[in-house]
Amino acid sequence: MSAAPTLLLCSETDDLGDLRPAFEQAAAERCPGLRVALWPEVAAGAAEVVALASWFAPLGLPAALPGLRLIASIGAGAEHVLRDPGLPAGVPVTRIVDEQQARGMAEFVLWAALYYHRGLDRVQQQQPRGVWRMPPQRPAAQTRVGVMGLGTMGAEVARCLAGHGFEVHGWSRRGHAIEGVRTWAGDVQLEDFLRPLDIVVSLLPLTEHTRGLCNARWFARLKPGAAFINCGRGEQVVLPDLLEALERGQLGGAVLDVFEHEPLPPVHPLWHTPRLLVTPHMASSVSPEAMARQIVGDTARVLAGLAPVHAVDRARGY
Ligand code: NDP
Repeated sequence: MSAAPTLLLCSETDDLGDLRPAFEQAAAERCPGLRVALWPEVAAGAAEVVALASWFAPLGLPAALPGLRLIASIGAGAEHVLRDPGLPAGVPVTRIVDEQQARGMAEFVLWAALYYHRGLDRVQQQQPRGVWRMPPQRPAAQTRVGVMGLGTMGAEVARCLAGHGFEVHGWSRRGHAIEGVRTWAGDVQLEDFLRPLDIVVSLLPLTEHTRGLCNARWFARLKPGAAFINCGRGEQVVLPDLLEALERGQLGGAVLDVFEHEPLPPVHPLWHTPRLLVTPHMASSVSPEAMARQIVGDTARVLAGLAPVHAVDRARGY
């Protein structure tokens, strides 16, 4: 086995083989001498692994790689890396930060907001009954959309919705100023942020604070009949509470793009729940080339003794 410094692509849930050519290309351009391997070609204990690029790697694997200098999530969220209780201290964890992915997210959320704003949800319910009834139409400025999370994704989404004329509100942990968006911060402002919204979008990372955030109490704070678009993470939603809110009409409808267990099993009741649209974690992805460029670039930095550009705050959880 070669002892060349190695970047290991690893997932327990997905086949990452298709990513390899992009990583090899990026390594040739940005980090000559860096070898790219696909788990389990390189086993635990291999000292040549300097970077792990992962999506749900086996728990304990990072701790078993003694030469590890970087742990990179191949997605925008890093919760699947940070869930490992044995993560070696002092090894930086990065995530994907990509403007093109944020623009893709803005497209998806704009579509979902328009779906409710223009009454396409109602039209879809009418169709099986052969009902020809135009939903009421109103200007976008009369529809209030709230975005939870104003990071790379949420800020772009908020700007896009504001640009399309919606009344946009944004909520985050710390305060942010975004032109055309009324912003709110922290748990103390959550209730006031939620109350007037017609549509609420989650673009929060999964952390110990956001896990289970959308529970019965949260749904009760929404304006009756509001719609919910979840593009954050499935674990942020207490599903029985969401279903109960839908059943009662407290929640008018939901687009769910992310789930605690993905793929959602074919027999799952969510597939057949009225007024609920299931989408297969498709809101926005990063291209293999952009992903590889960023992760190999950060690998080159750590090998040169520099901090990676896209590090997450391990203590904060995002
Ligand atoms: P960022 O880290 O850039 O932004 C996270 C935002 O969430 C920040 O504004 C942060 O606040 C806010 N936040 C975090 N914790 C809290 C809290 N407890 N209360 C209020 N606000 C909080 O992440 P991204 O925007 O890049 O991505 C967000 C998430 O979107 C990802 O973690 C992932 O789960 C999901 N995602 C889903 C995709 C899909 O296809 N469905 C694609 C890409 C991302 P502050 O700014 O104050 O720190």
